[in-house]
Amino acid sequence: MAFHVMIIPTLGCPSNCNYCWSSEEGSPLMNMETIRELVEWLKDFRNEPVTFTFHGGEPLLAGYEFFKEALPLLAKELDHLKPAFALQSNLWNLTPELAKLFAEYSIPVGSSLDGPEELNDLQRGDGYYQKTMKGYQIAQDNDLQVSFICTFTSYSIGFKEEIFNYFLDNGLDLKLHPALPSIRDENPEKWALPPDEYGKLLIYLLDKYLDNIDDIKVKNIDHICKSVFTRRGAVCTFVDCMDDTFAVGPDGSIYPCYRFVGMPDWVMGNVRDHPSQGELADSKAWKLMQKFKEYVDKNCKRCTFVKFCRGGCPYNALAEFEGEIDGVDPHCPAYRTIFKEITKRATKEMLGNSGLTIGPESDDKNNPTGVIALMIKPS
Ligand code: SF4
Ligand code: SF4
Repeated sequence: MAFHVMIIPTLGCPSNCNYCWSSEEGSPLMNMETIRELVEWLKDFRNEPVTFTFHGGEPLLAGYEFFKEALPLLAKELDHLKPAFALQSNLWNLTPELAKLFAEYSIPVGSSLDGPEELNDLQRGDGYYQKTMKGYQIAQDNDLQVSFICTFTSYSIGFKEEIFNYFLDNGLDLKLHPALPSIRDENPEKWALPPDEYGKLLIYLLDKYLDNIDDIKVKNIDHICKSVFTRRGAVCTFVDCMDDTFAVGPDGSIYPCYRFVGMPDWVMGNVRDHPSQGELADSKAWKLMQKFKEYVDKNCKRCTFVKFCRGGCPYNALAEFEGEIDGVDPHCPAYRTIFKEITKRATKEMLGNSGLTIGPESDDKNNPTGVIALMIKPS
């Protein structure tokens, strides 16, 4: 088994996206002492491969000196865990110096873009697009691998075709994220994408993807198809993420995932105490996460998709029920819709009466590509 540690150097962010729920003004910056303690904590924590993701807020606010010192410390001192790295950033503060450093560690970068400039800036704020594009150019000049997450909101769903075409025409792969109710907005539901709309969007994107399979990747659809095929979740949303995912906040507090960082009720321990997994398991937050697993075992047991859905994201479920375990991820109807559609199409294709091609995209438009092509497509 591998495990994942998200490092959150700060919850601060220079942007102010309308639907953001994860940044915090005036958040402190992590110092090197915390990284050293994190290294000491992990030396004997687990003897399995680890992936570190720098997340935020906006992690690049920590600056070049932070990464220049932190990366070799994590890579060398934890060499026995074969550390891999990733970064999630809006790229505004990416400099050639930082990009070179990230390239040295082969760090893939995830960023955010909601589609064409006007639409993106309407959701994320004036000037966002250009600032991200400037960073993207620096990343490309330094051979960094960048992929974008596109947040679909109740507003942008009306422009789904423009958004898909934007990613296709610009040679960018697409990973989508449905906007969640924002806890920072007076009207939290304003931007949120309702689950039924999300389900329809996934089916729309499945069809668009199949029509353009050689020219774009729609990562969520890849993950969902692979999950149905292998009957095992291919992303954290569709596995029991508890036990194998941790996040460390700016002050060294340990949480179940970056989404909980900054919420005192969700602190499981602190890196400076070098807690064992057993000690973390004594915390209230850990127990609540386990309770979610039990809730899913009991309440989703009749669902055909439970093995590779696992109730969806526990954070989404807890946010919906104000920190109580009282339901699954509210996107459940969307997950069901897409799992059902893919299962139905794959069964039909396997029975051989669909007229669809299995394998690479067909030039024969009367014989288009089917979902099995996505299931067996290399990642
Ligand atoms: S809480 Fe949600 S986002 Fe976090 S690791 Fe689990 S599934 Fe992923
Ligand atoms: S689709 Fe819904 S009912 Fe089925 S496992 Fe997922 S959350 Fe549970």
